[in-house]
Amino acid sequence: MSNRTWGCFDCRKTVRRDSFIEETPICPDCGVTCIYIGYQIPIPPRRDQKAWSELREQLRSEAMLRQEVARIRGVKGRHALEHEITRIEAMSENPGRQALLTQLRKQLAYIKARN
Ligand SMILES: [Zn+2]
Repeated sequence: MSNRTWGCFDCRKTVRRDSFIEETPICPDCGVTCIYIGYQIPIPPRRDQKAWSELREQLRSEAMLRQEVARIRGVKGRHALEHEITRIEAMSENPGRQALLTQLRKQLAYIKARN
């Protein structure tokens, strides 16, 4: 079992749970939903408000970076699919061509719907 750490930044309190839990822990003091901190992240002492603020800002920055990377990967994936569809459309008819085009267009629609 590997435990992960969640935290309440208002109370500066952590909750450790198994990594496979389905529900996000709530703060035992104030009852708000905790924020995932991670695995093997040094946790500042409860009295160190500045370090907790820095940790919160670090987690926000990392989350924004992950979102940006996912967005870029989505754009690259969409472009790759569009090129592949264009390439296959230019090919002569053959068995499986239409099925492959249908499959690729569904994937493209799914990616576009997410972004
Ligand atoms: Zn709390």
